[in-house]
Amino acid sequence: MYEWMKNVRQVEPYVPGEQPKDSSVIKLNTNENPYPPSPKVINRKLELEKLRVYSDPEASKLVSALADYHGLDKSQVFVGVGSDDVLAMSFMTFFNSDRPILFPDITYSFYDVWAELLRIPYEKKALDESFSIVPEDYFGENGGIVFPNPNAPTCIYMPLDGVRKILDNNRDVVVIVDEAYIDYAGESALSLIDEYDNLLVVRTFSKSRSMAGLRIGYAMGDSELISALNNVKFSFNSYTMNYLQIELGVCSVEDDGYFREMIDKVKNTREWFCKELVRLGFSFPESATNFVFAAHDRVPAKDLFEAAKNEKIYLRYFNKPRIDNYLRITIGTDEEMKKLVEFFEKYILTY
Ligand code: PMP
Repeated sequence: MYEWMKNVRQVEPYVPGEQPKDSSVIKLNTNENPYPPSPKVINRKLELEKLRVYSDPEASKLVSALADYHGLDKSQVFVGVGSDDVLAMSFMTFFNSDRPILFPDITYSFYDVWAELLRIPYEKKALDESFSIVPEDYFGENGGIVFPNPNAPTCIYMPLDGVRKILDNNRDVVVIVDEAYIDYAGESALSLIDEYDNLLVVRTFSKSRSMAGLRIGYAMGDSELISALNNVKFSFNSYTMNYLQIELGVCSVEDDGYFREMIDKVKNTREWFCKELVRLGFSFPESATNFVFAAHDRVPAKDLFEAAKNEKIYLRYFNKPRIDNYLRITIGTDEEMKKLVEFFEKYILTY
């Protein structure tokens, strides 16, 4: 035991899904998009000599492109290094009360990690029996609220009247809606930001925009919220967004046709795959995301997870109360999902 150790911040880090080194793996464990980024992104001629200088600390081009795309003012958009960075900055900026922040018991498992890291008190609110968020549970006194919509890993979308109920009963704290998967779901809470100055909507380029590796996330909300976020960001690291993120991010935003086409492709595969899952004896909530959260009526999820891994098909399994018999399965290409179905057929039959 070294003397300095007593001053070390003790944290239990978030464990991301495995990124296999073997490229023959069918990777359905981290909700990436199976299709490449827009051809505009891929064919963008880069001037890498520009890496010599610091990037634009305000990432103005990207902020403007996103503001135009969503019909907002530039002062209503904040960009960061993936939505993880945007969410972590938001926790630091907005959750400074002695009262606990609230989030669901089954949700994105980074929320408790940030709360612990930043020493923010928190309380988890149980999802109901069908894994839905109960808006009324969020009506009491609190220091802020965060939840994904659709929720992860449950893949359930809460219609906007539920989001509105939470906002109506929480006018004095910041409410963060993490919309990582909204492009596969229903209406976004973005339509509410003019009405609620305490609503922050967070998005990512990692899922529907096929750019998880580039790391771009953003937040939208009242300009006072965005200004507070920028003050914290500029107290931490001015140059979060580099030249590649800014240029390629803009190219992606400019190619809306490709973006919508890829979303439809994933949704079509999801529809086919869900029918196959029913046939195989799985049950699952209706998916509003690019993944399915499924349990088999006879074969334990852990066994399916391990057996699939042996066959080089990676799924996600959470050994946690209430969800330890579920598999989170990312929607891949038609071919990948057919291989998974073939594997399930064989394995389940002989189990
Ligand atoms: N929110 C949710 C609900 C997620 O599932 C993820 C992906 N792990 C993120 C945020 C973070 O995504 P990224 O940092 O790649 O934008």
